[in-house]
Amino acid sequence: MKKVNSDENRLNDTTKRDIVVARLNERGVQLEQIAEITLELQSKYVPDLSFETCLDHVERVVMKREVQNAILTGLELDILTEKGLVSEPLRTMLNDDHGLYGIDEVLALAIVNVYGSIGLTNFGFVDKSKLGIIKHLDELGKEDGVCHTFLDDIVGAIAAAAASSIAHRYA
Ligand code: MG
Repeated sequence: MKKVNSDENRLNDTTKRDIVVARLNERGVQLEQIAEITLELQSKYVPDLSFETCLDHVERVVMKREVQNAILTGLELDILTEKGLVSEPLRTMLNDDHGLYGIDEVLALAIVNVYGSIGLTNFGFVDKSKLGIIKHLDELGKEDGVCHTFLDDIVGAIAAAAASSIAHRYA
């Protein structure tokens, strides 16, 4: 039987939004940096698209419970890996961002799936092109003691989801 009356379950989505944003900030990511990727992704389809609109849609994405849960789970695994608290063989795969691990992308799908197949297409593109801060996170993640295995995919997924949210709105 699942425990239902834990503190976590009493948190509403707005409180959790604040926790999620603070956690992203601690990991070196601002929502504005995610919105920049969204702008780059979507401005070719929506000519007058503003940065503020992109940021607004990033905010909508991080208000969704499935998204919040995916972010918290992924970031926690990165943090535990940096602290050496993950056991083998997972520790080495997460430390090295092993190409065949693949669960970082699977978790990110929980974020983009909220927006249907267009979310998936956008995420595939972001994942390949490493736009904006993603490239920076990817490089930092190669340093000793830094694990960004989940973070880069989570940032890409939020940006892709926000782009999809804009696409649905302006289609
Ligand atoms: Mg990754």
